[in-house]
Amino acid sequence: MKKFSWLLVLMMSLSFALAACGSGGEGEGESSSGEGDSSGEGWVENVTVLTGGEAGVYFPIGVAMADIIDSQLEDVSATGVSSGASVSNTEQLNNGEAQLALVQNDIAYYGVEGTNMFEEPLENYSGVLTLYPETIQLVTIADSGIESVSDLEGKRVAIGDVGSGTEANAKQILEAHGLSESDLDAQYLDFADASTNLQDGNVDAAFVTAGTPTGAIQELSASADVKLISFDQDAIDSLTEEYSYYTQQDIPEDAYENFDSTATTVAVQAMVIASNDIPEDQMYEMTKALFENLDDLSNAHVRGEEVTLDTAQDGMPIDLHPGAKKYYDEQ
Ligand code: GLU
Repeated sequence: MKKFSWLLVLMMSLSFALAACGSGGEGEGESSSGEGDSSGEGWVENVTVLTGGEAGVYFPIGVAMADIIDSQLEDVSATGVSSGASVSNTEQLNNGEAQLALVQNDIAYYGVEGTNMFEEPLENYSGVLTLYPETIQLVTIADSGIESVSDLEGKRVAIGDVGSGTEANAKQILEAHGLSESDLDAQYLDFADASTNLQDGNVDAAFVTAGTPTGAIQELSASADVKLISFDQDAIDSLTEEYSYYTQQDIPEDAYENFDSTATTVAVQAMVIASNDIPEDQMYEMTKALFENLDDLSNAHVRGEEVTLDTAQDGMPIDLHPGAKKYYDEQ
């Protein structure tokens, strides 16, 4: 009997201690206070935000997002980490290795559908918001002799990091111009390595799918004479027809500081996806925190200025996370 009552006391104090640790939200999936400063039942305390390579745009924007969540949600810590970008981000998020990720909208869609590079439908992530256009840029040194995509035949071409959206786009663009990866010496390099290798003369051209100005190209243009290559109009027409996520884009002359960047190409849309393991009330608070601190995104990169509540569902290719949906419904 004595043993039993000690056990009871122990269990009671344990449950008191547990109740004291959680600051509310104890009632069956109830949302937390709505102040964005408390955590609820089942919340993920450590949020990893997958970005891309450090010389891209996902990295500064994703790190800024992590900082917003980290500072606005008490008891939640968030970190932005560099990664191989879209395809690997999608897979890692789906496997539960991270909670949020920046990805291209075409790749997010292929993942849910289980098409293209994905062997089966991925079911564990959903959409949060779309961000800004990501331009498919083909960059080369000004005197390389490359004037069009067809000139890439037989050349050493960086086609993006392994598992990046850039890789997927590069292959589709080559195909639309009647080329395949095997017609060139394709190299899997992230933006920073592609830029160093262009500068050193080890590669002839590089595909970069990212918001403009992309850090890697900006830096390269400070020390080398570079140019962007336009895609053939026929190829652009067939790409936009075959893949609904491509839109034609004219890169303006002043997209970069050091050179005339005029070129006609295509763009997809950057977006944020979330793991379905994030509880609805937590996702609601994270979405709210992001929209209430949009200035931090514009300060991180000029493309951050395009993130607005009004456009946050433009080009959204997949279902919204219920927590993000709740926020939009409320606004
Ligand atoms: N869209 C690129 C990719 O997934 C990454 C862009 C970036 O890092 O800004 O390949």
